[in-house]
Amino acid sequence: MADSDPGFNRSLKHLQQRSLQAVWHPCTQMKQHEQYPLVPVARGQGVWLYDTDGNRYLDAISSWWVNLFGHANPAINAAIRDQLEKIEHVMLAGFTHEPVVTLSERLKRIAPGSLGHCFYASDGASATEIALKMSFHYWLLCGKPRKNRFVSLQNDYHGETLGALSVTDVAIFKETYAPLLRPCTHVPTPDWRYAESGESACDYALRAAVALENHLAKHHDETAALILEPLVQGATGMGMYHPVYLQRAREICDRYQVHLIADEIAVGFGRTGTLFACNQAAIAPDFLCLAKGLSGGYLPLSAVMTADTVYQAFYDDSTARAFLHSHSHTGNALACRAALATLDIFEQDQVIAANQKKAAYLNTRAAALASHPKVRNFRNCGMIWAFEVDSDESDFAAKCFQAGLQQQLILRPLGNTIYFMPPYVINEAEIDHLIDGSLRVLDAI
Ligand SMILES: *Cc1c(COP(=O)(O)O)cnc(C)c1O
Repeated sequence: MADSDPGFNRSLKHLQQRSLQAVWHPCTQMKQHEQYPLVPVARGQGVWLYDTDGNRYLDAISSWWVNLFGHANPAINAAIRDQLEKIEHVMLAGFTHEPVVTLSERLKRIAPGSLGHCFYASDGASATEIALKMSFHYWLLCGKPRKNRFVSLQNDYHGETLGALSVTDVAIFKETYAPLLRPCTHVPTPDWRYAESGESACDYALRAAVALENHLAKHHDETAALILEPLVQGATGMGMYHPVYLQRAREICDRYQVHLIADEIAVGFGRTGTLFACNQAAIAPDFLCLAKGLSGGYLPLSAVMTADTVYQAFYDDSTARAFLHSHSHTGNALACRAALATLDIFEQDQVIAANQKKAAYLNTRAAALASHPKVRNFRNCGMIWAFEVDSDESDFAAKCFQAGLQQQLILRPLGNTIYFMPPYVINEAEIDHLIDGSLRVLDAI
């Protein structure tokens, strides 16, 4: 279509220009776009994104980790269209609707433990805020107002609003916004890249858990919750760790009466190879934060699932004992329908089992990457792969992104870490494209 249009190239450049003049892009030094042009996307299909010139790119990072079943997925599209004819949105205070009720019931059935209620918002950072506020408020209701601090892991990421940023450990963000943030302790990460040589991932995770225990032994009186990213610390570079850490964290939190908040915003819905990352440690958190893939990546939707004991503490005649929080689009009906369609695909296509085969194929094909002389720490957890690249290139990430586009591939490294987090609909030919393209990217930079 675009190729037959003589004005297509002008229209691509034109859209880039207009975007720079009117849109402030996220997580971006806008001036860098003088050098690195934006990619104007016209449409998507499966794992592919098409620019306004008709060039296609394999979306190896699932559009910031949100997309599970491909772009323009027919089943999810149909569900949203159907919902659109009924009710697009209604406020959730004083009202309810079928999609939000059914979604909550289904999440409750599949989530670990006894997380009986879902509180909704529109994005991951808001889910973090909700979990932190709820945890603090719970202890307040229990007569323990001093429990108002939080602990997270070194290198954790939980979003960028002020509360979420307080428990996030990314130096450049923290330093800049320090005066706005609440103090938070980051205990040592269980990420196995930090292990001593000869120390196993499991032993290292156990050692990291001792540091958590030592901290809580001293500070449990003023600590409301531990928040962590289970198994994979995504945003700071796809650090991966042994599930034994989660088991220990659960025991330690129980021992010291501290909530465990599992931020499965990135790792939930099959990313780590099980429906939820917590499943691999056979533990249940007190709060489970979900977003990103919850709606198949289609619409902004997040949820905080809460333990029944937490819910019960708020159940009372007094309004002040209610959870005081709201968002305009809480429980949006279109987003909930997209989420229900996503859960249907999980069930009908036995996605978790199918992904194991895809991951095995990708791992076989990736042998040349894993043993590449520039590659270190090649690692995999479920449908996430990552490795560090030895390079003294300044601006490695930006150059790698550009080199990826040349190979019809969207890679967006985190520093020197290249990662793959493809949509689950990726097939073997597309996996070949991903691996072969990545090898050429390594040779190009
Ligand atoms: C992306 C992410 C968030 C924040 O979600 P947003 O929707 O971007 O606000 C929080 N926690 C984790 C682990 C994430 O990966």
